[in-house]
Amino acid sequence: MKTLVLNASYEPLGVISTRRAVMLVLAGKASTVAGNGAQLHSRSLVLDAPSVVLLNQFIKVPHRRIPLTRKSALERYGHVCAYCGKYGDTLDHVIPRARGGTHTWDNVVIACFRCNNVKSDRLLTELGWKLPFELKEPHLNMASLISMRWNDPNWEEFTEPWRRHELQLAG
Ligand SMILES: [Zn+2]
Repeated sequence: MKTLVLNASYEPLGVISTRRAVMLVLAGKASTVAGNGAQLHSRSLVLDAPSVVLLNQFIKVPHRRIPLTRKSALERYGHVCAYCGKYGDTLDHVIPRARGGTHTWDNVVIACFRCNNVKSDRLLTELGWKLPFELKEPHLNMASLISMRWNDPNWEEFTEPWRRHELQLAG
């Protein structure tokens, strides 16, 4: 049996064994938010098995960074050229590397072969082009990972709001 762990802010943090979740509850570190219908028996007590627990104290979790590769960029942007909206599968440095542009999420988009060629080593301002979105470093979305990996309908109401939140951040 598995249990979803929520931060004190209700943000999904991860999935642990229900046994471990019970230990957290017994230690006063977490509270049960939803049970899974089963009961756990120990020598001295009977407990409702938690399906979801909430940490009693907020813990600060560092953002999980996603390495920038052609594959991860394609996953983020799809095969969509940032400049013309058509099919693209080329990594493009918005500020060209030859002009000091960095190989970082805040400088990389997907472009089609044609736009990539037209653009070459020029800046967007020199071409009169504009990006249709703001460039931001993406973070791994725990809520999405959890719902994809476990697909537990009982957890949806806890993961769904955070998935939507992340999608908005990704623009
Ligand atoms: Zn294009």
